[in-house]
Amino acid sequence: MRDATGSPTVVIECPERIACDVCEIVCRSGVISLEGSSINIPRIVRQENCTACGLCVAHCPGHAVFLIDTARPDGNAKVTVAFELPNPPMPGARVQAVDANGARAGEATVVGVRVSRSYNGTRLLELSVSRDIAGSVRGMEYVP
Ligand code: SF4
Ligand code: SF4
Repeated sequence: MRDATGSPTVVIECPERIACDVCEIVCRSGVISLEGSSINIPRIVRQENCTACGLCVAHCPGHAVFLIDTARPDGNAKVTVAFELPNPPMPGARVQAVDANGARAGEATVVGVRVSRSYNGTRLLELSVSRDIAGSVRGMEYVP
């Protein structure tokens, strides 16, 4: 998925009405809104402003935010997910992508590990996957 500006699309899957507004607060571009209440479901209101900075992905306590780019030059898609454990797989590693239920979704290759002081220790893993499965990939199996 890409928005009209060519940026990766930010995807939020946070169905529970929990008291949390981290994604709205950390986004400096006004992309995400809980529409006046921290127990509302977050919505994408200005996708076109998204810079793919990854702050919402890194800071969401529920790992409920992802970046999905389906217009990669190599013909694959890239799904960016949060990773909080030590020793993440390095770029080039072949891993099993999983869906939101932890079921295997297909093969993935780690193509990037994003690190930033503003991520508070969380890393962002960039997974290259087939476009066919990009919409369902939400993580990877981890064998340290
Ligand atoms: S990636 Fe950055 S700019 Fe885009 S929605 Fe998340 S925090 Fe906002
Ligand atoms: S930060 Fe995560 S858990 Fe909290 S409201 Fe946003 S998407 Fe939901």
